Amino acid sequence: MDRRNFFQSSALVTSGALAACASTGIANQVKTPFAVPQVTLPIVGSDERFPVRRIYCIGRNYAAHAREMGSDPTREPPFFFQKPTDAIQFVPTGTVANHPYPPLTKNYHYEAELVAVLGKGGRDIPVDKALDLVYGYTLGLDMTRRDLQRFMGDQKKPWEIGKSFDMSAPIGAVHKLEKTGHFKEGAIWLKVNGVTKQSADLKQMIWSVAEQISKLSEAFELFPGDIIYSGTPENVGPVVRGDVIEMHIDGLPNLSVKIV
Ligand code: MN
Repeated sequence: MDRRNFFQSSALVTSGALAACASTGIANQVKTPFAVPQVTLPIVGSDERFPVRRIYCIGRNYAAHAREMGSDPTREPPFFFQKPTDAIQFVPTGTVANHPYPPLTKNYHYEAELVAVLGKGGRDIPVDKALDLVYGYTLGLDMTRRDLQRFMGDQKKPWEIGKSFDMSAPIGAVHKLEKTGHFKEGAIWLKVNGVTKQSADLKQMIWSVAEQISKLSEAFELFPGDIIYSGTPENVGPVVRGDVIEMHIDGLPNLSVKIV
């Protein structure tokens, strides 16, 4: 799938040269010299689509994964990074989407993650109120150019090139909270070519979804449309062209991509 098809299939493209200023809530349309698509995701059981504002990701949120990345999970507060919204690759349920092996890397890794999507925002949200912001859930892959992430990290430079590149966020459709409930435990696994690589339980997350939202809201004002990749369990690893990744979270349909 080329870039144009990606946008047409996964994003609602604003027609002509009119764009609504959604991020500020201003309803009137403004003239622009070209259209920039608003990235949206299907909402299961609805004809509405979920508009994605920001993609936040939490790092090292499972102890065994933190250890395999060379850090001590007991002493580290949560930390976050972002992917650009147009890094999203929507993967329809029941399909195996072609996912392009990205440039510049020789060590391309999968990370299977629960994704919480927000329907409300705020600042300094207490943990016991944080889940009130959740609109629903889905699952996704935090695809990572591990060699570039490490190379930049070793030099104390931003690791953006390893994490925040085009198509780095394959993701499923949004499931409304009232259909799924909150995800506090349950199996999360990932297979490559049918062989289990990652297998853990969501209850092993160091920082729960509620705690992630609360912590994030201390650093950033959160808004409806923000989504949060909640971290990956241990045993991340590489894929090459031709590999098929399948990931699962109890209560959600599986997500599959083929590396091409
Ligand atoms: Mn991750």
